[in-house]
Amino acid sequence: VERSLVLVKPDGVRRALIGEIIRRIEAKGIRVVALDFRALPRELVEEHYAEHEGKPFFEPLVSFMTSGPVVSMIIEGHRCIEAFRLLAGATDPVKAAPGTIRGDLATDIGTTVVQNLVHGSDSPVSAEREIKLFFPQES
Ligand code: ATP
Repeated sequence: VERSLVLVKPDGVRRALIGEIIRRIEAKGIRVVALDFRALPRELVEEHYAEHEGKPFFEPLVSFMTSGPVVSMIIEGHRCIEAFRLLAGATDPVKAAPGTIRGDLATDIGTTVVQNLVHGSDSPVSAEREIKLFFPQES
């Protein structure tokens, strides 16, 4: 079975949506197999978002992601990478379809960075890389 890394970003924690987000994942039939709640070190966030280094939103993104604690989890299930990305909805909360986590729950109040509640790995290669980064003991 496939695994993916999911994050409830600081806006999701601040807005007390941890339970609601996990509920939607579990209701879909996806299992949570590892769970962690902590403030992320800046270096971890920079490594996680290395592909965006140099883009105008990189610094605001790193600041946002270190502005409060984050819930990190490993999810597991048949095609769970694609399934979670569909559950999450489009990156831009305004464009995310109703019925999705971002479409139903996110209002883009970020000025320079999109605050969109969650992250999910976008491919098996990213999932493996990100799981190693966030849960070195699990990989
Ligand atoms: P995530 O990786 O968090 O699941 P994603 O894969 O939908 O989101 P990416 O393109 O990987 O989106 O961007 C990572 C994050 O950077 C986004 O979730 C968002 O918070 C922020 N972001 C992406 N593009 C922009 C942009 N053009 N302006 C501001 N912030 C952005």
